[in-house]
Amino acid sequence: MKAAIHPKYFPKAKIVCACGNEMIVGSTIEEIHVELCSKCHPFYTGKQKLIDTARRVEKFAERQQVSDVKSSKATGRKAKTVKRAAIKEAKKAQKNPTQLSEA
Ligand SMILES: [Zn+2]
Repeated sequence: MKAAIHPKYFPKAKIVCACGNEMIVGSTIEEIHVELCSKCHPFYTGKQKLIDTARRVEKFAERQQVSDVKSSKATGRKAKTVKRAAIKEAKKAQKNPTQLSEA
């Protein structure tokens, strides 16, 4: 081993996971913080878990709510056609209720 070119080695470096699990390994970094480890990763636990560090799932849910509200308030041409079609279907069902129950 050539002298003075190697980083300091920590034979008992600590890895700390976000789930609270700790491991002792050999490393050139004394303490490492990670978000996932073999104790909490879905691959090893077999349970589905959303790892959402960037708040992506939450943001998507928010966007979806907003668009739901918007579409329920829609008054454009397309909304009118959709409403008309729904009314037509309802009237059809009223005229021959047996046909609908058979189908
Ligand atoms: Zn973990």
